[in-house]
Formats: sequence, structure tokens, C-alpha cells
Amino acid sequence: MAGKLLLLFAICRLIVIVGLTLNPTVTDLFRVGIDGKLSVDPHDIKSASMDFGKTTRNEPTAVLHPATADDVAKLVKLAYQSPHGFSVSARGHGHSINGQSQTANGVVVQMSRSGRNPAVPEVCEKKMYVDVWGGELWIDVLKSTLEYGLAPKSWTDYLYLSVGGTLSNAGISGQAFNHGPQISNVHEMDVVTGKGQVLTCSNDKYPELFHSVLGGLGQFGIITRARIALEPSPQRVRWIRVLYSNFSAFTHDQEYLISLHNESQSEKFDYIEGFVIVDEGLINNWRSSFFSPKNPVKISSLGAGGNVLYCLEITKNYYDSSNPESIDQEVEGLLKKLNFIPASVFTTDLPYVDFLDRVHKAELKLRSKGLWEVPHPWLNLFVPKSRIADFDKGVFKGILGNKTSGPILIYPMNKNKWDEKSSVVTPDEDVFYLVALLRSALDNGEETLTLKHLSEENRKILKFCKESNIKVKQYLPHYTTQEEWMEHYGDKWQQIYRKKMEFDPRHILATGQRVFEPRFGSEVRSW
Ligand code: FAD
Repeated sequence: MAGKLLLLFAICRLIVIVGLTLNPTVTDLFRVGIDGKLSVDPHDIKSASMDFGKTTRNEPTAVLHPATADDVAKLVKLAYQSPHGFSVSARGHGHSINGQSQTANGVVVQMSRSGRNPAVPEVCEKKMYVDVWGGELWIDVLKSTLEYGLAPKSWTDYLYLSVGGTLSNAGISGQAFNHGPQISNVHEMDVVTGKGQVLTCSNDKYPELFHSVLGGLGQFGIITRARIALEPSPQRVRWIRVLYSNFSAFTHDQEYLISLHNESQSEKFDYIEGFVIVDEGLINNWRSSFFSPKNPVKISSLGAGGNVLYCLEITKNYYDSSNPESIDQEVEGLLKKLNFIPASVFTTDLPYVDFLDRVHKAELKLRSKGLWEVPHPWLNLFVPKSRIADFDKGVFKGILGNKTSGPILIYPMNKNKWDEKSSVVTPDEDVFYLVALLRSALDNGEETLTLKHLSEENRKILKFCKESNIKVKQYLPHYTTQEEWMEHYGDKWQQIYRKKMEFDPRHILATGQRVFEPRFGSEVRSW
């Protein structure tokens, strides 16, 4: 009885939102039926209204927990065909920062598993790929491929993100210099377009849709299945960190190491990242727990004297069958060519899975201290190689002062590993850096750690780049006007616009990104 009442309430709310006296298509949806569940449970609504950023909140009317791609298609088709329309946003794990997977007064499609059991990962050992549901978390993709001794090639630092969510952005980590971002490692996808069609697309089939959706911020379709490239999984990882006080030595070495991408596996590292240390507090931070207690380090002992330090982070993967001595030699051979502070080599050795899942351990620690569920005013930028030294001077040694409230990652990538046809925009140089300011706002009385202060710093950084003509591109972009989006996409804008008109002409999908205004009746707005 309670279930029926809730359903009736959902229909009524949808009718009100869609603005119809009686919308036969809404009632049709319930008549046709879905295998999953359409929910107006306050708990579901609340969770779909928030994200990891904790700075933006938009309440949907209902949440769909789909069981199949058909469920998603039925909902989108309804939104597309109804005279007044309503917005539909896929939500992976809600790890966006600025409400990108939210939608006000529309329906959120909760893609991650919630008891509705969409298809489980299917590994093809022979062709080395896995087919996964769009809402699958990368940690679960890894678990299923490991059963066959295989693993995806390109990762994010954190694995509790959904496949559809990271493929809608790019999906990057220290393997990107070598394998490209995650979007360069997808063979095929099933996508529900903004017209409610389910299409299988790849380089050969519906290639326009395929390339648009990769890095497409959810604008062109909802990914319900992705076919991900695999490789034989290494079993162990040698994980090394070395420190620099000289920025140009640091970037020179990073750029040298990523230039080895075409070399054989024994002559290059498998993962190259780095981070900036502007205050000693960071040594105890979640990315830096590596240094202690086994390898305690004092910044002052390295003679940095309050200056900024840079940490290069590299790994060498190896197999049970590898000879440990030859791994030592390969690592030694590569380290010899670098110019880090001699006494600053920190090495550890661990199972491959533990390395990939390293941020989750830090998450559990932060959760136990109540420091995970806090606002995250993150800023991620792609900075052209030619201007990274100016960025260092102006931001790391300038705007940031000596308190950062979270890790600051910096690592270069090779542009030729990115497919120009995808929807992502990157700087116009062969090498560009990711600079990720991953900060947590705290309300502990320290002004420099407040959300207001950190947000203001982000604005200053963007202003500094603009005024210094450093042509950065935001990764996981956030803008509030279409003019800003047009500037972001630059030459790609016309193409993005044309594809939007083709695949989502009513601008139903992912309205939380605020790229396109929904084309609904004048009284309805879902931004
Ligand atoms: P959501 O935040 O739920 O969605 C993101 C966007 O994608 C929304 O617009 C949504 O509508 C759309 N979307 C979601 N699912 C689908 C789908 N199936 N089809 C079409 N569109 C969809 N990113 C990196 O690249 N590298 C990292 O190392 C990295 N580390 C991170 C660490 C942490 C702790 C966090 C919180 C985030 C990190 N990210 C990283 C960012 C992450 O890639 C983005 O947050 C991304 O949005 C994935 O999160 P999600 O799966 O929860 O997607």
C-alpha cells in the first residue's frame, strides 16, 4: 500500500514538474514498466542532491535505479517526447565537485549498483577486454578482471569512481603518459542518446557518437556499457618518491621520464606523477603518509628552509616471474639519470592492487576523523609545458602562501596519447601538465582553511592565468555561463554544439554541467 502511494506521489510530482494536466507518456512509463525502481524516497532524493564537493545542492523530483539500459532509454525517451520535457542526469558515484551530476526538478539516474543488479562485468580473455555496466565502480572492474590475471591499463588515482563518470571526463593518473587517459582505452560503448535510442558505438559504428561521449561531460548520451582494454596484470609495484627543491630540475626530469613512453617496458617507469609541498603540514597529509613512519622526513632536514619542495612519484610494475635483481637494476639505471636531492629517495614495495587502491586507505583514515565529508573546492587545470615555470612562480610560490589544506598534484602527459576526436579539450602543446589542487575546507577557526578563503584562492589562480596569458584548460571543468563554455571549447565549440543538436536536441541530459540551457516549456528550467 505504502509503495503504491509513493508511486502515485511520484507520478503526480512528475506531472506537476512537466507541467501537464495529465501526461499520457508519464503514465505510459509506469504502464510499460521498468525492471528497476523509480524512487521518491527522501533518502534517495537527498543523496542525489549532493556530491563530493559539498558546495552545490539541487533536488531532483525522482531517482531511477535502472536494472537495464532499456530502463534508462524509456525514461529519456519519455523526457524527450513529452511536450514540456524534463531533465535527466546520470549519476555515477556523485564524486563531482560542482553539482555536475545533479538536476533540479528532473530525474537522476543512479547508475552505480543499488541492489537492482545490472549486468556484471564480462571478461573476454582472448581479446583482452572487459564489458562493464556504465555505473560499475573501477574497484569492481579491477576485482573481476583480476580473476583472469588481467587489469585495465589506464587508471584514476582513486577507484571508487564509476566507469561512466570518468569516461565522461577523461580518467587520468600516472599511467596516462604511456597509455593515454582512460578514454583512450575504450573499444566500444552502448549509449542512450538524448532521444532515448540505445546505440552501440565505436571507432567504426556511429563514430561521431563514440567520440562525442568520450570526455563529453554527459552531454551526448548516457553510457550503459563500456568495453575496456586490458593487459596482463602485474603482481607487485616498486613505488619510489624523490624530492627536489629546484622546480626546473623537477619538471626536466618528469618530462624526460614521460618522453620514454615508446621505449620497452624495462627502460621506462610505469607510472609518473608528482606533487608540490608548500608546507610541512602536508607531510602528514593523505597523499604523504608514504613518508612515515618507516621513512620519516623533515623538510627542514633537506635544507629547503621554508621553500617549496617538489616530490616526483614513480613506480615500476613487476610480475611474480620477474627477477627482483633485474627490477633493482632497471630502477637504479633510471634513477641515475635524474637530478633529485641525493638523500631523498623513499622506496616501498607492495602488491599491485594495494598500490592502485592507495587513496581508499587514506579515505578510510579521513572518514574516521570526520575529515572526508567536508567541502572540497577542488581546482584541476591542464597547464601548457611552456608556461609551467610561470605557473610555479605565480601560484605555488605566490598565491598559495604556506598553507594548502590538501594535496597539489603536478605531472605531465603526452598529448599524442589523447584522441583529438574526443570531446575533451587540452592545451595546444605536445606536453601539458595536470595541476590538481585537491583541497578540503575546514571550519576549525583557521581563516586560510575556510571554504571562502580557498574558493577565493581558486578565483585568484584563474585570474592570474588569464592576466599572464597562460592558456590553461580546466579539467573536470566548472563554468556558469555559456560564454565561458564557448571559451573553454575554443575551436571545438561549433562541433560540440552541432553534436548536442544531433544527439540531445532538447538538452535533456546532464544539465548540472550547465553547458546548455534545457529547451523546455518557458515555465520549466532545470539548471
Ligand atoms: P559523477 O560525479 O556522478 O558524474 C560526473 C559527470 O558524468 C556528470 O555530469 C554525470 O551526469 C556524468 N555521468 C555519470 N555517469 C555517466 C554515464 N554512465 N554516462 C554518461 N554520463 C555520466 N579523476 C581523474 O581523472 N583522475 C583521478 O585520479 C581522480 N581522482 C579522484 C579522487 C577523488 C577522491 C575524487 C572525489 C574524484 C577524483 N577524480 C579523478 C574525479 C572523477 O573522475 C570525477 O569526479 C568524475 O566525475 C567521476 O565521478 P563519478 O563516477 O562519481 O561521476
